[in-house]
Amino acid sequence: MSTLRHTVVLGGGVAGLTAAVALTRAGRLVTLIERRAELSGKAGSYRPPGIFQWVDHCPHVLLGACTSQRWLYEQLGVGDLITWHDRLPLRAGDEAGELLAQPSLPPPFNLAQGLLGLPGLTPRDLATLAAAMTKISVARPPWPDDQTFAAWLGPLTTPTLDRGFWSLLLRSVLNASADEASARYGLLFFRHGLLHHRDAWHLGVPRCPLRTLHHVAPRAWLARHGGQVVLGQAGSVALGPSGFVVRAGAEEFVADEVVLALTPTQARRALDPALTARVGGALDVDLEAGSIVGAHLWFAEPVDLPPVTGLFDAELDWVFRHDGGRRLAVVASTADAWQGLSPAGQAERAWRTLRQHWPRLPAPVATAACREARATFVPRPGLDARRPGPVTGVPGLVLAGAWTATGWPATMEGAARSGLAAASALVGADLSVPDLPAQGVYRLTCRTSRR
Ligand SMILES: Cc1cc2nc3c(=O)[nH]c(=O)nc-3n(C[C@H](O)[C@H](O)[C@H](O)COP(=O)(O)OP(=O)(O)OC[C@H]3O[C@@H](n4cnc5c(N)ncnc54)[C@H](O)[C@@H]3O)c2cc1C
Repeated sequence: MSTLRHTVVLGGGVAGLTAAVALTRAGRLVTLIERRAELSGKAGSYRPPGIFQWVDHCPHVLLGACTSQRWLYEQLGVGDLITWHDRLPLRAGDEAGELLAQPSLPPPFNLAQGLLGLPGLTPRDLATLAAAMTKISVARPPWPDDQTFAAWLGPLTTPTLDRGFWSLLLRSVLNASADEASARYGLLFFRHGLLHHRDAWHLGVPRCPLRTLHHVAPRAWLARHGGQVVLGQAGSVALGPSGFVVRAGAEEFVADEVVLALTPTQARRALDPALTARVGGALDVDLEAGSIVGAHLWFAEPVDLPPVTGLFDAELDWVFRHDGGRRLAVVASTADAWQGLSPAGQAERAWRTLRQHWPRLPAPVATAACREARATFVPRPGLDARRPGPVTGVPGLVLAGAWTATGWPATMEGAARSGLAAASALVGADLSVPDLPAQGVYRLTCRTSRR
Protein backbone atom coordinates (compact mmCIF):
# COMPACT_ATOMS: atom_id res chain seq x y z
CA MET A 1 0.00 0.00 0.00
CA SER A 2 1.26 3.45 -0.95
CA THR A 3 2.39 5.69 1.88
CA LEU A 4 2.37 8.79 -0.33
CA ARG A 5 -0.06 11.51 0.64
CA HIS A 6 -2.95 11.55 -1.81
CA THR A 7 -3.92 14.98 -3.11
CA VAL A 8 -6.97 15.59 -5.26
CA VAL A 9 -6.87 18.67 -7.47
CA LEU A 10 -10.27 19.84 -8.69
CA GLY A 11 -10.10 21.88 -11.91
CA GLY A 12 -7.82 21.28 -14.89
CA GLY A 13 -7.17 24.92 -15.82
CA VAL A 14 -3.67 26.40 -15.66
CA ALA A 15 -3.98 26.81 -11.87
CA GLY A 16 -4.92 23.16 -11.31
CA LEU A 17 -2.30 21.91 -13.78
CA THR A 18 0.46 23.88 -12.10
CA ALA A 19 -0.61 22.70 -8.64
CA ALA A 20 -0.77 19.10 -9.87
CA VAL A 21 2.72 19.23 -11.40
CA ALA A 22 4.26 21.01 -8.39
CA LEU A 23 2.66 18.59 -5.91
CA THR A 24 3.70 15.54 -7.92
CA ARG A 25 7.25 16.85 -7.97
CA ALA A 26 7.01 17.36 -4.21
CA GLY A 27 6.17 13.67 -3.74
CA ARG A 28 2.37 13.71 -3.57
CA LEU A 29 0.21 11.14 -5.33
CA VAL A 30 -2.05 13.38 -7.39
CA THR A 31 -5.51 12.84 -8.85
CA LEU A 32 -6.61 15.68 -11.13
CA ILE A 33 -10.34 15.91 -11.77
CA GLU A 34 -11.72 18.07 -14.58
CA ARG A 35 -15.40 18.61 -15.30
CA ARG A 36 -14.92 19.00 -19.05
CA ALA A 37 -13.73 16.45 -21.60
CA GLU A 38 -10.30 18.11 -21.78
CA LEU A 39 -7.90 19.82 -19.42
CA SER A 40 -7.03 23.49 -20.17
CA GLY A 41 -9.84 25.47 -18.53
CA LYS A 42 -10.22 28.88 -20.13
CA ALA A 43 -6.96 28.48 -22.06
CA GLY A 44 -8.04 25.69 -24.40
CA SER A 45 -8.91 24.76 -27.96
CA TYR A 46 -11.91 23.52 -29.94
CA ARG A 47 -12.83 22.26 -33.37
CA PRO A 48 -15.27 24.76 -34.87
CA PRO A 49 -18.24 23.22 -36.73
CA GLY A 50 -17.23 22.16 -40.23
CA ILE A 51 -13.53 22.86 -39.61
CA PHE A 52 -11.29 19.87 -39.08
CA GLN A 53 -8.61 21.69 -37.15
CA TRP A 54 -8.03 22.47 -33.51
CA VAL A 55 -7.94 26.22 -32.90
CA ASP A 56 -7.98 28.15 -29.66
CA HIS A 57 -11.19 29.53 -28.21
CA CYS A 58 -9.15 32.67 -28.07
CA PRO A 59 -5.46 33.19 -28.85
CA HIS A 60 -3.47 33.37 -25.61
CA VAL A 61 -0.06 34.99 -25.23
CA LEU A 62 2.43 35.32 -22.41
CA LEU A 63 5.26 37.68 -21.58
CA GLY A 64 8.87 36.97 -20.75
CA ALA A 65 7.97 38.11 -17.22
CA CYS A 66 5.62 35.13 -16.80
CA THR A 67 8.16 33.00 -14.96
CA SER A 68 5.74 30.59 -13.26
CA GLN A 69 3.95 29.76 -16.47
CA ARG A 70 7.27 29.27 -18.22
CA TRP A 71 8.33 26.97 -15.38
CA LEU A 72 5.20 24.89 -15.99
CA TYR A 73 5.98 24.64 -19.70
CA GLU A 74 9.56 23.63 -18.98
CA GLN A 75 8.35 20.87 -16.63
CA LEU A 76 5.96 19.63 -19.30
CA GLY A 77 8.64 19.77 -22.00
CA VAL A 78 6.69 22.22 -24.17
CA GLY A 79 8.74 25.38 -23.59
CA ASP A 80 10.09 25.25 -27.14
CA LEU A 81 6.56 25.40 -28.59
CA ILE A 82 6.46 29.11 -27.73
CA THR A 83 7.80 31.62 -30.28
CA TRP A 84 9.25 34.70 -28.59
CA HIS A 85 8.91 38.05 -30.35
CA ASP A 86 11.37 40.78 -29.41
CA ARG A 87 10.00 43.30 -31.92
CA LEU A 88 6.32 44.10 -31.97
CA PRO A 89 4.77 45.45 -35.16
CA LEU A 90 2.04 47.97 -34.33
CA ARG A 91 -0.47 49.74 -36.51
CA ALA A 92 -2.49 52.91 -36.21
CA GLY A 93 -4.91 52.88 -39.15
CA ASP A 94 -2.74 52.01 -42.14
CA GLU A 95 0.36 53.53 -40.55
CA ALA A 96 2.84 50.86 -39.44
CA GLY A 97 5.42 51.12 -36.66
CA GLU A 98 6.95 48.82 -34.12
CA LEU A 99 8.16 48.52 -30.56
CA LEU A 100 11.79 47.53 -30.58
CA ALA A 101 14.39 47.67 -27.81
CA GLN A 102 17.93 48.96 -27.97
CA PRO A 103 19.79 46.01 -26.36
CA SER A 104 22.96 47.98 -25.61
CA LEU A 105 21.12 50.30 -23.20
CA PRO A 106 20.16 49.27 -19.65
CA PRO A 107 16.47 49.02 -18.64
CA PRO A 108 14.41 51.18 -18.75
CA PHE A 109 16.41 53.22 -21.29
CA ASN A 110 16.50 50.23 -23.68
CA LEU A 111 12.85 50.93 -24.57
CA ALA A 112 13.08 54.74 -24.70
CA GLN A 113 14.14 54.88 -28.32
CA GLY A 114 11.60 52.17 -29.19
CA LEU A 115 8.77 54.44 -28.15
CA LEU A 116 9.76 56.77 -30.97
CA GLY A 117 8.86 53.97 -33.39
CA LEU A 118 5.22 53.84 -32.30
CA PRO A 119 2.84 54.70 -35.12
CA GLY A 120 0.26 57.50 -35.27
CA LEU A 121 1.75 59.74 -32.57
CA THR A 122 2.38 63.48 -32.91
CA PRO A 123 5.40 65.15 -31.25
CA ARG A 124 3.06 66.24 -28.44
CA ASP A 125 1.86 62.65 -27.91
CA LEU A 126 5.46 61.44 -27.83
CA ALA A 127 6.54 64.12 -25.33
CA THR A 128 3.55 63.28 -23.09
CA LEU A 129 4.29 59.55 -23.38
CA ALA A 130 7.93 60.14 -22.46
CA ALA A 131 6.86 62.08 -19.35
CA ALA A 132 4.36 59.36 -18.40
CA MET A 133 6.91 56.57 -18.87
CA THR A 134 9.36 58.50 -16.72
CA LYS A 135 6.74 58.78 -13.95
CA ILE A 136 6.09 55.02 -14.29
CA SER A 137 9.81 54.23 -14.30
CA VAL A 138 10.53 56.02 -11.04
CA ALA A 139 7.33 55.16 -9.10
CA ARG A 140 8.33 53.41 -5.90
CA PRO A 141 6.35 50.40 -4.69
CA PRO A 142 4.03 49.74 -2.98
CA TRP A 143 1.90 51.09 -5.79
CA PRO A 144 -1.51 52.58 -4.95
CA ASP A 145 -4.57 50.34 -5.11
CA ASP A 146 -7.05 53.05 -4.17
CA GLN A 147 -7.22 54.87 -7.51
CA THR A 148 -7.42 53.99 -11.19
CA PHE A 149 -4.42 53.99 -13.47
CA ALA A 150 -5.97 56.93 -15.38
CA ALA A 151 -6.27 58.95 -12.14
CA TRP A 152 -2.67 58.08 -11.22
CA LEU A 153 -1.46 59.16 -14.66
CA GLY A 154 -3.32 62.47 -14.30
CA PRO A 155 -2.58 64.87 -17.14
CA LEU A 156 0.21 62.70 -18.60
CA THR A 157 -1.88 61.47 -21.50
CA THR A 158 -3.56 62.68 -24.68
CA PRO A 159 -6.72 61.51 -26.46
CA THR A 160 -4.57 59.65 -29.03
CA LEU A 161 -2.61 57.85 -26.30
CA ASP A 162 -5.84 57.05 -24.45
CA ARG A 163 -7.32 55.37 -27.52
CA GLY A 164 -4.03 53.86 -28.68
CA PHE A 165 -1.02 53.06 -26.50
CA TRP A 166 -2.65 52.86 -23.04
CA SER A 167 -5.76 51.19 -24.33
CA LEU A 168 -3.95 48.48 -26.31
CA LEU A 169 -1.49 47.58 -23.57
CA LEU A 170 -3.88 47.70 -20.62
CA ARG A 171 -6.69 45.92 -22.45
CA SER A 172 -4.27 43.21 -23.59
CA VAL A 173 -2.93 42.44 -20.14
CA LEU A 174 -5.68 43.53 -17.75
CA ASN A 175 -8.74 43.28 -20.03
CA ALA A 176 -9.69 46.67 -18.58
CA SER A 177 -9.28 50.31 -19.51
CA ALA A 178 -7.12 52.86 -17.69
CA ASP A 179 -10.38 54.25 -16.20
CA GLU A 180 -11.25 50.85 -14.72
CA ALA A 181 -7.97 49.25 -13.67
CA SER A 182 -6.29 49.91 -10.37
CA ALA A 183 -3.10 51.97 -10.61
CA ARG A 184 -1.32 49.07 -8.91
CA TYR A 185 -2.09 46.66 -11.75
CA GLY A 186 -1.17 49.21 -14.41
CA LEU A 187 2.15 49.87 -12.71
CA LEU A 188 2.78 46.16 -12.12
CA PHE A 189 2.40 45.56 -15.85
CA PHE A 190 4.49 48.48 -17.05
CA ARG A 191 7.23 47.85 -14.52
CA HIS A 192 7.41 44.04 -14.34
CA GLY A 193 5.91 43.25 -17.73
CA LEU A 194 7.76 45.86 -19.75
CA LEU A 195 10.64 47.68 -18.12
CA HIS A 196 12.17 45.67 -15.28
CA HIS A 197 14.26 43.21 -17.33
CA ARG A 198 15.36 43.14 -20.99
CA ASP A 199 13.26 40.05 -21.74
CA ALA A 200 10.22 40.99 -19.63
CA TRP A 201 8.14 42.43 -22.49
CA HIS A 202 8.97 39.78 -25.11
CA LEU A 203 5.73 38.35 -26.38
CA GLY A 204 5.37 34.58 -26.29
CA VAL A 205 2.97 33.12 -28.86
CA PRO A 206 2.26 29.37 -28.86
CA ARG A 207 3.01 27.68 -32.17
CA CYS A 208 0.52 24.91 -31.37
CA PRO A 209 -3.09 24.81 -30.21
CA LEU A 210 -3.36 25.58 -26.50
CA ARG A 211 -4.66 22.06 -25.91
CA THR A 212 -1.19 20.71 -26.74
CA LEU A 213 0.24 22.77 -23.87
CA HIS A 214 -2.62 22.44 -21.40
CA HIS A 215 -4.24 19.07 -22.17
CA VAL A 216 -2.06 16.67 -24.15
CA ALA A 217 1.27 17.46 -22.44
CA PRO A 218 0.08 17.60 -18.78
CA ARG A 219 -2.06 14.50 -19.19
CA ALA A 220 0.92 12.56 -20.52
CA TRP A 221 3.24 14.07 -17.87
CA LEU A 222 0.94 13.10 -15.00
CA ALA A 223 0.52 9.58 -16.39
CA ARG A 224 4.33 9.24 -16.60
CA HIS A 225 4.73 10.46 -13.01
CA GLY A 226 2.15 8.17 -11.42
CA GLY A 227 -0.73 10.65 -11.33
CA GLN A 228 -4.29 10.07 -12.40
CA VAL A 229 -6.50 12.30 -14.54
CA VAL A 230 -10.29 12.03 -14.44
CA LEU A 231 -12.05 13.87 -17.27
CA GLY A 232 -15.66 14.73 -17.90
CA GLN A 233 -16.74 14.58 -14.26
CA ALA A 234 -17.42 17.46 -11.89
CA GLY A 235 -15.90 16.68 -8.51
CA SER A 236 -17.54 17.32 -5.16
CA VAL A 237 -15.83 17.38 -1.77
CA ALA A 238 -17.02 16.37 1.71
CA LEU A 239 -15.28 15.43 4.93
CA GLY A 240 -15.07 11.71 5.69
CA PRO A 241 -13.86 9.71 8.67
CA SER A 242 -10.27 9.59 7.42
CA GLY A 243 -9.78 12.67 5.27
CA PHE A 244 -11.68 14.19 2.40
CA VAL A 245 -14.12 12.24 0.29
CA VAL A 246 -14.13 13.41 -3.32
CA ARG A 247 -16.82 12.14 -5.68
CA ALA A 248 -16.54 12.37 -9.44
CA GLY A 249 -19.38 10.55 -11.21
CA ALA A 250 -19.35 6.93 -10.06
CA GLU A 251 -15.84 7.20 -8.64
CA GLU A 252 -15.01 8.05 -5.04
CA PHE A 253 -11.57 9.05 -3.79
CA VAL A 254 -10.31 9.42 -0.25
CA ALA A 255 -7.80 12.24 -0.11
CA ASP A 256 -5.46 13.65 2.50
CA GLU A 257 -5.55 17.04 0.78
CA VAL A 258 -7.67 18.88 -1.76
CA VAL A 259 -6.82 21.78 -4.05
CA LEU A 260 -9.87 23.67 -5.29
CA ALA A 261 -8.52 25.19 -8.51
CA LEU A 262 -11.93 26.55 -9.42
CA THR A 263 -13.68 29.91 -9.65
CA PRO A 264 -15.45 30.97 -6.42
CA THR A 265 -18.87 29.98 -7.83
CA GLN A 266 -17.57 26.60 -8.99
CA ALA A 267 -15.89 26.04 -5.62
CA ARG A 268 -19.08 26.80 -3.69
CA ARG A 269 -20.91 24.27 -5.87
CA ALA A 270 -18.22 21.63 -5.37
CA LEU A 271 -18.11 21.85 -1.58
CA ASP A 272 -20.34 20.11 0.88
CA PRO A 273 -22.33 22.87 2.75
CA ALA A 274 -20.55 22.06 6.01
CA LEU A 275 -17.18 22.64 4.35
CA THR A 276 -18.38 25.83 2.62
CA ALA A 277 -19.27 27.24 6.03
CA ARG A 278 -15.80 26.42 7.34
CA VAL A 279 -14.05 27.90 4.30
CA GLY A 280 -15.84 31.10 5.27
CA GLY A 281 -15.92 34.37 3.35
CA ALA A 282 -13.03 33.48 1.01
CA LEU A 283 -15.48 32.26 -1.62
CA ASP A 284 -17.80 35.26 -1.27
CA VAL A 285 -15.53 37.62 -3.22
CA ASP A 286 -17.57 39.39 -5.84
CA LEU A 287 -15.67 39.45 -9.15
CA GLU A 288 -16.74 41.78 -11.93
CA ALA A 289 -16.44 39.89 -15.21
CA GLY A 290 -14.65 41.17 -18.30
CA SER A 291 -15.40 39.71 -21.74
CA ILE A 292 -13.08 38.80 -24.64
CA VAL A 293 -13.78 37.73 -28.23
CA GLY A 294 -11.47 35.43 -30.15
CA ALA A 295 -11.93 34.84 -33.88
CA HIS A 296 -10.21 32.89 -36.66
CA LEU A 297 -10.36 33.78 -40.34
CA TRP A 298 -9.19 31.35 -43.05
CA PHE A 299 -8.10 32.62 -46.46
CA ALA A 300 -7.86 30.90 -49.84
CA GLU A 301 -4.33 32.26 -50.38
CA PRO A 302 -1.71 33.16 -47.75
CA VAL A 303 -2.09 36.78 -46.59
CA ASP A 304 1.01 38.90 -46.17
CA LEU A 305 0.85 40.15 -42.57
CA PRO A 306 3.54 40.14 -39.85
CA PRO A 307 3.46 37.12 -37.48
CA VAL A 308 1.89 39.34 -34.83
CA THR A 309 0.54 42.90 -34.91
CA GLY A 310 -0.96 45.14 -32.21
CA LEU A 311 -3.63 47.59 -33.33
CA PHE A 312 -4.00 51.09 -31.87
CA ASP A 313 -7.44 52.65 -31.61
CA ALA A 314 -9.23 49.59 -33.00
CA GLU A 315 -11.91 47.16 -31.94
CA LEU A 316 -9.33 44.37 -32.11
CA ASP A 317 -6.15 44.32 -30.04
CA TRP A 318 -3.88 41.72 -31.64
CA VAL A 319 -3.70 39.85 -34.92
CA PHE A 320 -1.69 36.63 -35.23
CA ARG A 321 -0.72 35.00 -38.52
CA HIS A 322 -0.88 31.20 -38.53
CA ASP A 323 -0.67 28.30 -40.97
CA GLY A 324 1.72 30.14 -43.30
CA GLY A 325 -0.67 33.09 -43.63
CA ARG A 326 -3.79 31.08 -44.46
CA ARG A 327 -5.33 31.82 -41.05
CA LEU A 328 -5.47 34.97 -38.96
CA ALA A 329 -6.40 34.69 -35.29
CA VAL A 330 -7.59 37.90 -33.63
CA VAL A 331 -8.49 39.04 -30.12
CA ALA A 332 -10.85 41.77 -28.98
CA SER A 333 -10.58 42.52 -25.26
CA THR A 334 -13.19 44.40 -23.18
CA ALA A 335 -15.62 43.14 -25.80
CA ASP A 336 -18.94 44.20 -24.27
CA ALA A 337 -19.91 45.92 -27.54
CA TRP A 338 -19.76 42.51 -29.28
CA GLN A 339 -22.47 41.09 -27.02
CA GLY A 340 -25.44 39.65 -28.89
CA LEU A 341 -23.51 39.02 -32.12
CA SER A 342 -23.55 35.49 -33.52
CA PRO A 343 -20.13 33.84 -34.15
CA ALA A 344 -20.56 34.75 -37.84
CA GLY A 345 -21.36 38.34 -36.84
CA GLN A 346 -18.28 38.48 -34.60
CA ALA A 347 -16.06 37.17 -37.41
CA GLU A 348 -17.58 39.66 -39.85
CA ARG A 349 -16.91 42.51 -37.42
CA ALA A 350 -13.33 41.29 -36.95
CA TRP A 351 -12.78 41.19 -40.72
CA ARG A 352 -14.20 44.71 -41.19
CA THR A 353 -11.85 45.97 -38.48
CA LEU A 354 -8.88 44.27 -40.16
CA ARG A 355 -9.84 45.89 -43.47
CA GLN A 356 -9.50 49.33 -41.85
CA HIS A 357 -5.84 48.49 -41.26
CA TRP A 358 -5.12 46.36 -44.35
CA PRO A 359 -7.56 47.61 -46.99
CA ARG A 360 -6.49 44.94 -49.51
CA LEU A 361 -7.17 42.01 -47.18
CA PRO A 362 -9.41 39.56 -49.09
CA ALA A 363 -12.62 38.12 -47.68
CA PRO A 364 -12.09 34.97 -45.64
CA VAL A 365 -13.33 31.63 -46.96
CA ALA A 366 -14.21 30.32 -43.51
CA THR A 367 -14.49 31.81 -40.02
CA ALA A 368 -14.99 30.81 -36.41
CA ALA A 369 -15.45 33.00 -33.38
CA CYS A 370 -16.53 32.89 -29.78
CA ARG A 371 -17.09 35.42 -27.05
CA GLU A 372 -16.26 34.51 -23.45
CA ALA A 373 -18.45 36.74 -21.26
CA ARG A 374 -16.60 35.84 -18.04
CA ALA A 375 -13.09 35.72 -19.46
CA THR A 376 -11.36 37.61 -16.65
CA PHE A 377 -12.09 39.68 -13.57
CA VAL A 378 -11.82 43.46 -13.81
CA PRO A 379 -8.94 44.58 -11.54
CA ARG A 380 -10.69 47.61 -10.05
CA PRO A 381 -9.08 49.63 -7.25
CA GLY A 382 -9.56 47.88 -3.91
CA LEU A 383 -10.07 44.38 -5.34
CA ASP A 384 -6.68 43.20 -4.12
CA ALA A 385 -7.71 43.33 -0.48
CA ARG A 386 -10.65 41.02 -1.19
CA ARG A 387 -8.72 38.27 -3.05
CA PRO A 388 -8.10 35.35 -0.65
CA GLY A 389 -4.83 33.46 -0.33
CA PRO A 390 -4.63 29.67 -0.71
CA VAL A 391 -5.14 28.72 2.94
CA THR A 392 -8.71 28.15 4.14
CA GLY A 393 -10.22 27.48 7.55
CA VAL A 394 -10.08 23.73 6.75
CA PRO A 395 -6.63 22.14 7.19
CA GLY A 396 -5.59 20.37 3.98
CA LEU A 397 -8.10 22.25 1.79
CA VAL A 398 -6.52 25.04 -0.27
CA LEU A 399 -7.67 27.41 -2.98
CA ALA A 400 -6.07 28.16 -6.34
CA GLY A 401 -7.21 30.03 -9.43
CA ALA A 402 -6.23 33.21 -11.23
CA TRP A 403 -8.73 35.11 -9.03
CA THR A 404 -6.94 34.32 -5.74
CA ALA A 405 -4.43 36.68 -4.12
CA THR A 406 -1.49 36.36 -6.47
CA GLY A 407 -1.06 40.11 -6.94
CA TRP A 408 -1.33 39.43 -10.67
CA PRO A 409 -4.24 40.13 -13.00
CA ALA A 410 -6.45 37.38 -14.47
CA THR A 411 -3.83 35.73 -16.65
CA MET A 412 -2.30 32.31 -17.14
CA GLU A 413 0.68 33.56 -15.13
CA GLY A 414 -1.66 34.54 -12.28
CA ALA A 415 -3.21 31.06 -12.47
CA ALA A 416 0.22 29.37 -12.47
CA ARG A 417 1.33 31.45 -9.47
CA SER A 418 -1.83 30.49 -7.62
CA GLY A 419 -1.16 26.81 -8.31
CA LEU A 420 2.35 27.11 -6.90
CA ALA A 421 1.05 29.04 -3.88
CA ALA A 422 -1.54 26.33 -3.18
CA ALA A 423 1.09 23.60 -3.52
CA SER A 424 3.46 25.55 -1.24
CA ALA A 425 0.75 25.84 1.41
CA LEU A 426 0.19 22.07 1.41
CA VAL A 427 3.84 21.08 1.31
CA GLY A 428 4.93 23.69 3.84
CA ALA A 429 7.77 24.93 1.63
CA ASP A 430 8.15 27.80 -0.80
CA LEU A 431 7.70 26.33 -4.29
CA SER A 432 7.32 29.71 -6.01
CA VAL A 433 9.40 30.55 -9.07
CA PRO A 434 11.50 33.72 -8.79
CA ASP A 435 10.62 36.77 -10.87
CA LEU A 436 13.05 37.88 -13.56
CA PRO A 437 15.84 39.70 -11.74
CA ALA A 438 15.85 43.49 -11.87
CA GLN A 439 18.21 44.88 -14.50
CA GLY A 440 19.70 48.25 -15.30
CA VAL A 441 18.52 51.11 -13.15
CA TYR A 442 16.10 48.82 -11.30
CA ARG A 443 18.98 46.78 -9.92
CA LEU A 444 19.81 49.81 -7.84
CA THR A 445 16.37 51.16 -7.03
CA CYS A 446 13.69 48.50 -7.23
CA ARG A 447 12.17 46.79 -4.26
CA THR A 448 9.97 43.89 -5.28
CA SER A 449 6.24 44.55 -5.54
CA ARG A 450 5.23 40.94 -4.98
CA ARG A 451 3.37 40.24 -1.84
C1 LIG B 1 -10.99 34.64 -24.12
C2 LIG B 1 -9.85 34.68 -23.14
C3 LIG B 1 -8.62 35.20 -23.53
C4 LIG B 1 -7.55 35.24 -22.61
N1 LIG B 1 -6.33 35.66 -23.01
C5 LIG B 1 -5.26 35.51 -22.17
C6 LIG B 1 -3.95 35.75 -22.62
O1 LIG B 1 -3.70 36.08 -23.79
N2 LIG B 1 -2.92 35.60 -21.73
C7 LIG B 1 -3.13 35.20 -20.44
O2 LIG B 1 -2.17 35.06 -19.69
N3 LIG B 1 -4.41 34.96 -19.99
C8 LIG B 1 -5.45 35.10 -20.82
N4 LIG B 1 -6.71 34.81 -20.38
C9 LIG B 1 -6.91 34.47 -18.96
C10 LIG B 1 -6.53 33.02 -18.66
O3 LIG B 1 -7.07 32.15 -19.63
C11 LIG B 1 -7.11 32.66 -17.29
O4 LIG B 1 -6.76 33.62 -16.32
C12 LIG B 1 -6.59 31.31 -16.80
O5 LIG B 1 -6.62 30.35 -17.84
C13 LIG B 1 -7.46 30.87 -15.63
O6 LIG B 1 -7.03 29.61 -15.19
P1 LIG B 1 -7.65 28.97 -13.88
O7 LIG B 1 -7.05 27.63 -13.74
O8 LIG B 1 -7.54 29.93 -12.75
O9 LIG B 1 -9.23 28.85 -14.13
P2 LIG B 1 -10.07 28.06 -15.29
O10 LIG B 1 -9.32 28.08 -16.55
O11 LIG B 1 -11.42 28.68 -15.24
O12 LIG B 1 -10.11 26.56 -14.74
C14 LIG B 1 -11.09 26.05 -13.88
C15 LIG B 1 -11.39 24.63 -14.34
O13 LIG B 1 -12.18 23.97 -13.36
C16 LIG B 1 -13.11 23.15 -14.04
N5 LIG B 1 -14.18 22.83 -13.08
C17 LIG B 1 -15.20 23.61 -12.67
N6 LIG B 1 -15.92 22.98 -11.72
C18 LIG B 1 -15.33 21.78 -11.53
C19 LIG B 1 -15.58 20.67 -10.66
N7 LIG B 1 -16.58 20.70 -9.77
N8 LIG B 1 -14.77 19.59 -10.73
C20 LIG B 1 -13.73 19.55 -11.62
N9 LIG B 1 -13.45 20.58 -12.45
C21 LIG B 1 -14.22 21.66 -12.40
C22 LIG B 1 -13.52 23.98 -15.22
O14 LIG B 1 -14.13 23.19 -16.23
C23 LIG B 1 -12.17 24.56 -15.63
O15 LIG B 1 -11.50 23.71 -16.55
C24 LIG B 1 -7.78 34.79 -21.28
C25 LIG B 1 -9.03 34.27 -20.90
C26 LIG B 1 -10.03 34.19 -21.83
C27 LIG B 1 -11.33 33.54 -21.42
